[in-house]
Amino acid sequence: MPADLLAHALAAKGFMPEDEGEFLHRVASERLPHGPALEVGTYCGKSAIYLGAAAREVGGTVFTVDHHRGSEENQAGWEHHDATLVDAEFGVMDTLPIFRRTIARAGLEDQVIALVGRSTTVARHWRTPLSLLFIDGGHAEEHAQNDYSGWAHWVMPGGALVIHDVFERPEDGGQPPYHVWLRAVASKAFEPARTVGSMRVLTRVAGDAGDSAG
Ligand code: SAH
Ligand code: MG
Repeated sequence: MPADLLAHALAAKGFMPEDEGEFLHRVASERLPHGPALEVGTYCGKSAIYLGAAAREVGGTVFTVDHHRGSEENQAGWEHHDATLVDAEFGVMDTLPIFRRTIARAGLEDQVIALVGRSTTVARHWRTPLSLLFIDGGHAEEHAQNDYSGWAHWVMPGGALVIHDVFERPEDGGQPPYHVWLRAVASKAFEPARTVGSMRVLTRVAGDAGDSAG
């Protein structure tokens, strides 16, 4: 990871530990020559810098999907709420302006393309095989499962499915991302490959990667 981009990633608001971010960057560097990558869960662009840095080095494009209204756990009164991200007119979160500034500062506007909307809606209209899918969106069971159903079947053979915040033990964190990992393994379409912290990488083998073909 180039030092200038690492500095931008470390300075960005968000939820991506440095070791997991650098790991994500490494996986993306290997995969991006084969096709675009897509992230579900942009927030303020922190993980997108790690992905975009890989695109700047090896070529390629990173799409990142978010409605920018925050997950349940980002709303007022919840653990991961940041009051500076509330839009005064609508009284709801808006992370899009911060994302835009973050990516512009990092000089990655040509590599990182924002898709603003619900993951399920964007997925329904998506038609492009992915070299890498990074699932880091809503952590409620419904949203995590929808992200798998909507996107996993777009991962090309040999491609990487990366799931963040996977905690096997309930005392370490919420279970939905782990349930998605179990589902991916059970589908036989993916095989576990590598893990750093709560970030798990699986490789697409063959088979039916999801129940919703869009
Ligand atoms: N990858 C980010 C963290 C993402 S936080 C980082 O590195 O910091 C999860 C994000 O998922 C939030 O910004 C939230 O708005 C988004 N999200 C949650 N549910 C969603 C859905 N159904 N569709 C689109 N985005 C969603
Ligand atoms: Mg996360």
